[in-house]
Amino acid sequence: MSNATIIDEKVLNECLNEITRALLQADVQFKLVRDMTTNIKKIVNLDDLAAGHNKRRIIQQAVFNELCKILDPGKPSFTPKKGKPSIVMFVGLQGSGKTTTCTKYAYYHQKKGWKPALVCADTFRAGAFDQLKQNATKAKIPFYGSYTESDPMKIAVDGVETFKKENCDLIIVDTSGRHKQEAALFEEMRQVAEATKPDLVIFVMDSSIGQAAFDQAQAFKQSVAVGAVIVTKMDGHAKGGGALSAVAATKSPIIFIGTGEHMDEFDVFDVKPFVSRLLGMGDWSGFMDKIHEVVPMDQQPELLQKLSEGHFTLRIMYEQFQNILKMGPIGQVFSMLPGFSAELMPKGQLDTSNPKLMTDSRIMRIARGSGHQVHEVMDMMEEYKRLAKMWSKMKGLKIPKKGEMSAL
Ligand code: GDP
Repeated sequence: MSNATIIDEKVLNECLNEITRALLQADVQFKLVRDMTTNIKKIVNLDDLAAGHNKRRIIQQAVFNELCKILDPGKPSFTPKKGKPSIVMFVGLQGSGKTTTCTKYAYYHQKKGWKPALVCADTFRAGAFDQLKQNATKAKIPFYGSYTESDPMKIAVDGVETFKKENCDLIIVDTSGRHKQEAALFEEMRQVAEATKPDLVIFVMDSSIGQAAFDQAQAFKQSVAVGAVIVTKMDGHAKGGGALSAVAATKSPIIFIGTGEHMDEFDVFDVKPFVSRLLGMGDWSGFMDKIHEVVPMDQQPELLQKLSEGHFTLRIMYEQFQNILKMGPIGQVFSMLPGFSAELMPKGQLDTSNPKLMTDSRIMRIARGSGHQVHEVMDMMEEYKRLAKMWSKMKGLKIPKKGEMSAL
C-alpha cells in the first residue's frame, strides 16, 4: 500500500490479502481473520472518503482497531482484592507453563503487597509438587502439597482451608495438565473446581500452540468457568496469534504474558504492542523508549534522522554499535521496529548477490592493518550487509514524535 499512489478497491483488497497471510502465519484462526477483513471492508468505504483524507492511515487504523477489539472482550470474570481471601485456579495442558506461571502470578502479587499461597493439586505428573515447592521456596511463598495423597480434590480442599486460616488473600491452585485434551483431565478439573469454588479460573496457553488454540481453549471453557487467559513463552519465535483464538473461544481477556523462564519474566498484558508485533508493525513506543534509554541525548535526533533516510554506512555502524548493542540483542531491538518481523532477519539471510563491497585484497589489507584475522573482517562485512538490509527498510518511514506515538 505504501507504494501505491491511489488507494482504490484493488489496492485495499491486495492489502487485506497481505494482512490475511501475515495473520494466518502468526497462527490467527482463519474465521477470525475473515470476519475481521469483512468488517474492515464495511468500515473503510473508499468512495465516501473525501479527497485529501489519509486513506492509508484510515485502513491501517481500522485493521489495528479490529485486532484490538478481538483481543478486548472486557474485564476478567473476577479481579482479586487485597485483604479478602480469593481462590484462583490455574488450568492448561501439560507443558504450557502452568506451574511456572502459578509462581510468577503469586510472586507478582506478593511484590505488590498481597499474601499469596500455592497449592499443588497436580497428582498426575511425578515431580509436579517438587517443582512447585522449589519455585515457591525461592520466592518465599507458602505452599501446600503431598507426596502420598493421590486425590487432587482432597489436596486442593485441604490446601485452601489451611491458607484461609492463615489469612492468605490469594490462594492459587495448580491443577494437573495432560499431553492433550482428554476426558479424565477435564473431569478431574471440574471436580477440583466444584470442591474449591474458585473465584477465578485462569487458562494458561503456550503461545506456540498455533491453530489448535481455539479448540483447546474452548474445551477448557466448556468444563470450567475460565475467566482469564495467560499466554506463556512470548519470548520465543511464535507471534502468539493463537492468543486471539483463546480469547474468542473463552470470551475472556488475556491478563498477563510470560516472557521467559524466570520468576519475574511476567508482564501485564498490553493489547497495542501485542497487535503491533502480530502485524509486524513494531512497537514504536518500546523502540523509542529504548532509544531514549541508551542513546545519549545529543545523538538521538541524528540517529532518528539517519534511520528515516535509510542510509547505512560502515561509519554509522561503527558509531551506533556502541549504543545499539547496549539496547540488547540486536534482533530483539529490531523486532520492535515497524516492518521488521522475526522472519525478516533469520541468520544467513544475507543476499550474497549484493555488489561486492570490498575486494579480497582490500579485506586482507584491512585485516593486516587492524591486527585482525581475515575471517573477522569478513564476519563484520556480513553483519554490515545484514544490518544495512534491515536499515534500508526504514527509509521514508515517518518516525513518530513522542506525542504521536499513542496514535498506534
Ligand atoms: P506445566 O506442565 O504446564 O506446569 O509447565 P511448566 O511450568 O513445567 O513449564 C514447562 C516449561 O516451560 C518449563 O521448562 C518452563 O521453564 C518453561 N516456561 C514456562 N513459561 C515460560 C515462558 O514464559 N518463557 C519460556 N521461555 N519458558 C517458559
